[in-house]
Amino acid sequence: MQRTPLIAANWKMNGSAALVEEITRELTGLELSDTEVLICPPATLINRFSAERNFALGAQNVSHEKAGAFTGELSTDLLLEAGARFVIIGHSERRTLNFESDALIAAKLAAAVNAGLTPVLCIGETLEQRQQEKTQQVLARQLDAVYASQPELLAKSVIAYEPIWAIGTGESATPQQAQTTHAFIRQHLKQYDTQSAIRVKLLYGGSVNADNCAALFDQADIDGALVGGASLKPAEFAQICLAVT
Ligand code: PEP
Repeated sequence: MQRTPLIAANWKMNGSAALVEEITRELTGLELSDTEVLICPPATLINRFSAERNFALGAQNVSHEKAGAFTGELSTDLLLEAGARFVIIGHSERRTLNFESDALIAAKLAAAVNAGLTPVLCIGETLEQRQQEKTQQVLARQLDAVYASQPELLAKSVIAYEPIWAIGTGESATPQQAQTTHAFIRQHLKQYDTQSAIRVKLLYGGSVNADNCAALFDQADIDGALVGGASLKPAEFAQICLAVT
């Protein structure tokens, strides 16, 4: 089964109008024929990107509410109007720092899909959970919370496996560790819908950089990456995009 690779950038609370220009310049002209590229900048920068670009745009969060008295929140309609076509949901930083529950993440993912946004669902275990050999249990819980009662959403999703111990630490999972976990995720997803489980893109995230990406992309169940720190360096991010094809 051929899955088109996807390289996604998560700028987190970083970036600027100048970086918008720089990344656009760096990616323009790159031969990305068989690769999808996605930039998720802070929401205020989404509509600073020109329509003339060879990559998609996404947000880093969305409300599950349609509209109304929700100060500080952004709806699916607002994100779509700004130009987003994807949205990261359930990033570990939001699960931890913003106390987002599995139930809230499931509601956000449903709202995104129903509005026509492609969700990039992030799942991952802590170091302690890995050391206690609870990785599969944690991932199964995070997936079941979203898809057990709404399996039809899997066909419209992208899933990013991001071990929390690898995010922003410089310590990526080894290609073998990542592949073993991706294979488990794909197998687990088959209970919801076999065809969707085969087709769904599984991204790896956690200290991906220009030096370690090729070995990760060689793995059978790794279909691309969600890149944090290295996505703020346009030249390095471009190298990662080129490495996946
Ligand atoms: C992330 O936050 O999604 C991430 C993968 O960050 P980093 O690449 O910096 O580890």
